[in-house]
Amino acid sequence: MTFTPARQSDRLYHELLAPEEARSVRASVRLIAEREVAPHAAVIAGGDERTDGFPRRVFDALASVGVYRIPFPSEVGGDGLTYPATATAAAIEELAYYSSSVAAVFDVHCILAGNALRQGTDEQQQRWLRKVAEGSVVGAFATTEPDASSDLSPQAVQTEAVRTEAGWVLNGHKRWISNSPVAGFVVVLARTGERLSMFIVDMALPGVEVGLADRKMGNRGQLTADIRFTNVRLSDDDILGGAEGHGLRHALSTLTYGRIGIAAAGVGMAQAAFDLTVAHLSTRHVFGRPVAANQHWQFLLAERATEIENARTLYTKAALRLDAGNPSPEPEAAMAKYYATKLSVDMARDAVQAFGGLGFARQLGSDGSSSPVEAIYRDSKIGEIYEGTNEIQKWVIARQIFGRGIVG
Ligand SMILES: Cc1cc2nc3c(=O)[nH]c(=O)nc-3n(C[C@H](O)[C@H](O)[C@H](O)COP(=O)(O)OP(=O)(O)OC[C@H]3O[C@@H](n4cnc5c(N)ncnc54)[C@H](O)[C@@H]3O)c2cc1C
Repeated sequence: MTFTPARQSDRLYHELLAPEEARSVRASVRLIAEREVAPHAAVIAGGDERTDGFPRRVFDALASVGVYRIPFPSEVGGDGLTYPATATAAAIEELAYYSSSVAAVFDVHCILAGNALRQGTDEQQQRWLRKVAEGSVVGAFATTEPDASSDLSPQAVQTEAVRTEAGWVLNGHKRWISNSPVAGFVVVLARTGERLSMFIVDMALPGVEVGLADRKMGNRGQLTADIRFTNVRLSDDDILGGAEGHGLRHALSTLTYGRIGIAAAGVGMAQAAFDLTVAHLSTRHVFGRPVAANQHWQFLLAERATEIENARTLYTKAALRLDAGNPSPEPEAAMAKYYATKLSVDMARDAVQAFGGLGFARQLGSDGSSSPVEAIYRDSKIGEIYEGTNEIQKWVIARQIFGRGIVG
């Protein structure tokens, strides 16, 4: 079932920051999401990773209308926008409004894998980034390991590439790698001696093995799995950017962009839960009047509307600073990620409460009806965890307040 509540943001949010180009991308992605994502959103959200698999039909439909071209320059087949990060963030919000999974697949494909490749050599970009922009290959990005994620220091990362006379040999084990069961390539963080480097690894190479898809609480259309690398043979041409030792910088700058995307996804989910809640509270009658007639709900929704306003403004500011050439737009990127993802969890919990029993239902036995807020409740939680947990975001913000000397 597709839910199309009135878009409250059209009345409540006055877009004064985003340039016309980004507004136009938002408008077109909204139409695409309504047509290509919304009809499949409930099935994706309620699916099982191992039996339902990757939402290929939606991925291909988004490719066919050029959605993966938005973040990239024209030299690699992208749209060549002046404000690519701002437009990309708006696009993610619009996708997440219907499906957190689809927004996450886009985020990993374009913002993580794609923007990591943007730090590659011209040859690497021509070889892989064109295909990312076309959507003819799915991208993945791997920093996390069973014992390393928040801490990506060379001491924590165990995946290792060793230089031999015949090139590099990669061994290691990555965990939670989104898109990996269907990916054509993965950008991998590995130790090279005392430092870290990123390698672009073709998933078809001998020695690359993807495990079973993880079964998760939410975001079930975002497939994750372990990847094991056993004596995978690579060359200098596979080192991201062509020189070893820059892996941590590449990974962290990619994840900074990622924060903005995850913040935008949080706003998309919060806005969807908000719109559904407003519609439900206005039409559901209890004690002879709409539930919305109770000041409790009026005040709660007033608070959430204010927070959505703040969250969208924060991620837009962070993206505009990125587009202006600041590779580390802090504290806004960390603030946006922490604030927007917490908001989406809070708003989703409020939505479940506002819908009463229906909020808790995946499907009613009597008529098959369901409420989509149950899926938002499950999906929203991951935003507080991945691409740098919210504790790590607060650490980043605290560094801006007190400095590294005190915070570390
Ligand atoms: C659905 C999903 C998709 C993912 N996709 C990818 C992907 O595509 N590629 C990839 O590389 N990884 C991916 N990840 C991994 C994800 O980024 C990590 O799970 C996340 O960074 C947290 O790391 P961790 O799970 O190892 O938790 P840990 O690092 O073990 O942290 C555990 C807890 O300790 C807290 N903590 C850690 N350090 C501090 C501190 N200094 N102060 C206070 N608290 C602290 C954390 O905030 C957290 O609450 C994905 C994970 C999931 C669940």
